[in-house]
Amino acid sequence: MDKIATSLTKNTKEPAKTSSVRIVVAGPRGKMGSEAIQMINNQKEFTLVGCVDHKESVDTDKDVPVFTDLHACLQSTKPDVFIDLTIPEVGYKHTRIALELGVRPVVGTTGFTDEQLKEITNIAEKNGIGCIIAPNFALGAVLMMKFSKIAAKYYSDVEIIEKHHDQKVDAPSGTAIKTSELIRENLAAKPHPSVKETESIEGARGGNDNGVHIHSMRLPGLVAHQEVVFGGEGETLTIKHDSIHRSSFMQGIKLSIEKVLNLQTCVYGLENIIDIDH
Ligand code: NAP
Repeated sequence: MDKIATSLTKNTKEPAKTSSVRIVVAGPRGKMGSEAIQMINNQKEFTLVGCVDHKESVDTDKDVPVFTDLHACLQSTKPDVFIDLTIPEVGYKHTRIALELGVRPVVGTTGFTDEQLKEITNIAEKNGIGCIIAPNFALGAVLMMKFSKIAAKYYSDVEIIEKHHDQKVDAPSGTAIKTSELIRENLAAKPHPSVKETESIEGARGGNDNGVHIHSMRLPGLVAHQEVVFGGEGETLTIKHDSIHRSSFMQGIKLSIEKVLNLQTCVYGLENIIDIDH
């Protein structure tokens, strides 16, 4: 760890001040990043102190510095929370840097591997720093996952259809992978095809996540949508969620900023920071 890292890591075990939470955003020109900046600027308890981008000129509505290097940004702006809304390779690298410098990450970027999540959790715990990574910050999406997990107890056959805008790079979505994981924890029996299947067009049956087929649709006009379809004797059950605007993710980001200040580990999934059982 270099001098910058050492100086910023000094107070890592102290909870961050909650009076005005100092925030840095990576990906400020992006669809999610620009929405997050608008949300931050509308909260009197949050202060945007910097951005990280490829470009140095970003219109943030506030006079904040824009950096192309995260180390320099964190050293100069000394934020409490770092928000990443970029792409998987960058998001992973940024999250590690923030944790090593004692800044709490709130990560919306999707596409991290299980191994990357484990490494991030190890660094967070070693340094006693909170981190929240959520593949979906929309409350309705969290409920859709929860209801799917409950329904899985009563079925053994299920498929997931996720639909996103055509600029999304990773497939299937982080939400679909998480939903499949939750469903498989509860599924009444291991799913199995009732006939020997063939595909005349490769991929026609979607991706197979340990028996749960996931179909990914990418089209302009879409935002983020998912259907979980259970099949039983003479019936289907569909649990469906639609994010029709990116503002649907902002309450989850706001809550994560508040919660991450008092965590000393990495929490994966919005469902683990909200009480949805009652
Ligand atoms: P987007 O519009 O493409 O925005 C991504 C931004 O990141 C772009 O402005 C991109 O700039 C920028 N970027 C790329 N490399 C960078 C770097 N090294 N430093 C700083 N900025 C960099 O995508 P989006 O729709 O906003 O989504 C962003 C991420 O959030 C994706 O991973 C997406 O899957 C995820 N997402 C999460 C949720 C959730 O609830 N967790 C919801 C929606 C989306 P260039 O275009 O110039 O490369």
